[in-house]
Amino acid sequence: MSVIKKGFEAAMVGGKGSRFFTLQTDVPVDVVLAHGVDGIQSVEQHDWWDFNPAPHLVCLGEDCPSCALGNEAKVKSYLGVITKEQEVKYFPVAISIVQQLEKNEKAVGDLTGRVFRFEKTGSGLKTRYTAISMGKKLDVSKFVLPDLEELLGPMTVEAQLAKLNEAGIDTTTIKGAAKKGAKKKAPAPIPTEDGKAPWEDAEEVVEGIDGWATM
Ligand SMILES: [Zn+2]
Repeated sequence: MSVIKKGFEAAMVGGKGSRFFTLQTDVPVDVVLAHGVDGIQSVEQHDWWDFNPAPHLVCLGEDCPSCALGNEAKVKSYLGVITKEQEVKYFPVAISIVQQLEKNEKAVGDLTGRVFRFEKTGSGLKTRYTAISMGKKLDVSKFVLPDLEELLGPMTVEAQLAKLNEAGIDTTTIKGAAKKGAKKKAPAPIPTEDGKAPWEDAEEVVEGIDGWATM
């Protein structure tokens, strides 16, 4: 059973919980969509924002250590795109982006290969995301998306407990199967990562598409 669910409905379950999109405010970015709305991948994820670097762990459902510790999982949706640098990346997209893409797809059909301009404006509660179709469609058939599950790992109770312990989170209160490997709070967080979320490294160099790099 995969923890990743595909398509519009799965993304909508998250409501306002889907809040991640790596855009800088007021800097529009053009990308090619690697797939249509059906290809959007959604996953329930635990973000331990009170810790630095914050562990981002996919909810394992039954026996999930983060659930056992009372951290609430939120749905995050990932859109596969090809950047102007010819890289395949996952954008964690806000719910409003998914809705705009769905509207577009209803109007023009499958969005695979379509060029979109994404922009973030405002801040805090006034943050807005826009997705504008640039009226171009490119052949993206040669691009292969990296395995999202692999990028979001680890996917085992033991490995996730290790991550939590590493971040300095006390896992000794966990009962049941998730307890295996639980440890007392670490003396100090060990900075094994540079504070980046796992998806920030989600990229893969690929061959160019005619007409895209020079646009
Ligand atoms: Zn969980």
